[in-house]
Parts: sequence; structure tokens; C-alpha cells
Amino acid sequence: MRATIMYQAGDVRIETIPDARIQQPTDAVIRIVRACICGSDLWPFRLKQPDGKGQNMGHEAIGRVEAVGADVRKIKVGDVVIMPFAYSDGSCDFCHEGLHTSCMHGGFFGNSEVGGAQAEALRIPLADGTLYPVPIGEDHALMASLLTLSDVMGTGHHAAVVARVREGKKAAVVGDGAVGLCGVIAAKRLGAEQIILLGRHADRIALAKTFGVTDVVSERGGEAVERVRELTGGMGVHSVLECVGSEQAMATSMGIVRAGGAVSRIGVPHYDVIPQAQPMFYHNVIVGGGPAPVRAYIEELLPDVPDGYRAMDARESLKVMVQP
Ligand SMILES: [Zn+2]
Repeated sequence: MRATIMYQAGDVRIETIPDARIQQPTDAVIRIVRACICGSDLWPFRLKQPDGKGQNMGHEAIGRVEAVGADVRKIKVGDVVIMPFAYSDGSCDFCHEGLHTSCMHGGFFGNSEVGGAQAEALRIPLADGTLYPVPIGEDHALMASLLTLSDVMGTGHHAAVVARVREGKKAAVVGDGAVGLCGVIAAKRLGAEQIILLGRHADRIALAKTFGVTDVVSERGGEAVERVRELTGGMGVHSVLECVGSEQAMATSMGIVRAGGAVSRIGVPHYDVIPQAQPMFYHNVIVGGGPAPVRAYIEELLPDVPDGYRAMDARESLKVMVQP
């Protein structure tokens, strides 16, 4: 079968690899119907050092189940399924607490051990815990929207949850990429009254306004901090959704969060130390976040799919969908 393999920065190839097959009785194999390129795939595309072996790419997909192992009970051959970017058993303490990305038997897709979803097919470990069946055909009009529940929308929602977005409060979203825009949708959905977007791409800003952004700040660094302070009576926002992953974005986030507020980071941080530890301490600021337990959120977000995401998925430049 064909699969996408990244060898080093700028060197990504479609190659023929051995077909995905059942290896454990709890596995399923899915035929990929739709997959995505994630913003996080761009980090290795820019930075990956050659290590002699390639990385199997892709961790967001919808598929049709082609085979199941002997111990798979809930997932059936023929099911159309959403595949969260992490696999999980659905039964350990962490899964019961809704933190499937820390599953004691789980792990992540998109590497040489488990394989990637930018391929014709993929082996899914712990299929019963991992996969979420949706009762639709694979040519359904909402396919692209449902695909957002595999990663990007669940991640934006996680950003809003960790940043403690509350009804009637002020939130800011740092970054206008696909996750940032999903963060806007999530903040609006959870009732934020003021939503400030820090971004500078006109087309994305226009889209974000349709999602509920009330103010846009296109300055950077200290000027951006000043602008957000102006927009919030000098106090800053209760919730900051840091949707970039750079040190600069985190520094800005720490500058615009209000005392007692929370900053969430949901992209892989590309820095070692969180800046401004002392202001963070004196202002009782919470910094949290990590890989989103997307599996835990699918059920909650699924009913809202038809309303919110269609517009976003139409923008090819913002989020690239791959159809094998
Ligand atoms: Zn688990």
C-alpha cells in the first residue's frame, strides 16, 4: 500500500510499504477515507534531522473498518469511524478520567512503530477503545466536518477547557491557524463574551469574525500586549488559548492574561522554559494543557458539527484534507 513518509526537513515521499494488517487480537485495520495534514506535521517538515529511517506521517483520519481482530467486540467491519490522533483502551484510570492521551496502554499515531494515517490503510491498536463509529456513509457531505473531531476541533476545545473559558468572561486566542480558529469556535460555544484574536491573516480573521471573534489584534510582542490590555480595561483576559507553540506566543500569552486567569497550550511547545515565572506567580496565573484527549470530546462536540465547521473546511489553504 502507499503511505506518506518523511525522511528529513523538506523531504517527504509517497512510498509503497507493507500492507496494514491485524497484529494483535484487539486491532482493527481501517481503509483511510479522508485524512489531514496537521499544523504539527509542519515542524518535522521544517526541522527534522535525517536519522536513516523515515517517519510515517498522519494522525487525523476517518476510515472504513476493513478487518477486526478476534477480541474486538464493539467495532464492526464496514463501520465508518473517526480516528483520534492517539489510541487508547478506554478502560484504564486515565481513560475513565477523560484523559485518553495518557492511557496506560495507549500511544500516538504518525510514527514508524504504529504507522500513519496519510496512507491507504492503517492498523488501529485497541480498536474498541480508540475508534468512534459514526452512522453515515463514506460519501456523506459532513465527512470533512467530522474529520475535525479527529484532532483540530477537539484540540481547540481542549484549549478552551484548560484555559477555563466561562460564560460571560473574556478570552483571547493567540494564533489564527486551524487550531486557533477552532479555539474561537470553542470559546464562543462555552459562552465567552469577549473573544480577542491575535493574528494577522486577513482571510482567517474574516472567518474568525463569523465564528464569534469580537476584537482583532494584529500587532506583535509588547504592542500586542498593550492593545489587549486596552481592550480589557487594563486587566487582561481571564482565558488565553495559546495556539502557536512558540516561545514568543507564550510570552505574549503571559502578558495578556489577567490575574487569577489561565493560559492553555495545546501545541507541542518548541521552548524549554515558560517565560515570566515571577509575574505568573504574583498574579496567580495557571498555565496548563497538553495533547488534547480528543476521544473524550467527540461525543460532546459531535452534535454541533453540522452548524459550525462547514465553512472552515471549505478553506483549503487553512487545513489540507487528503483523499487517498
Ligand atoms: Zn486507557
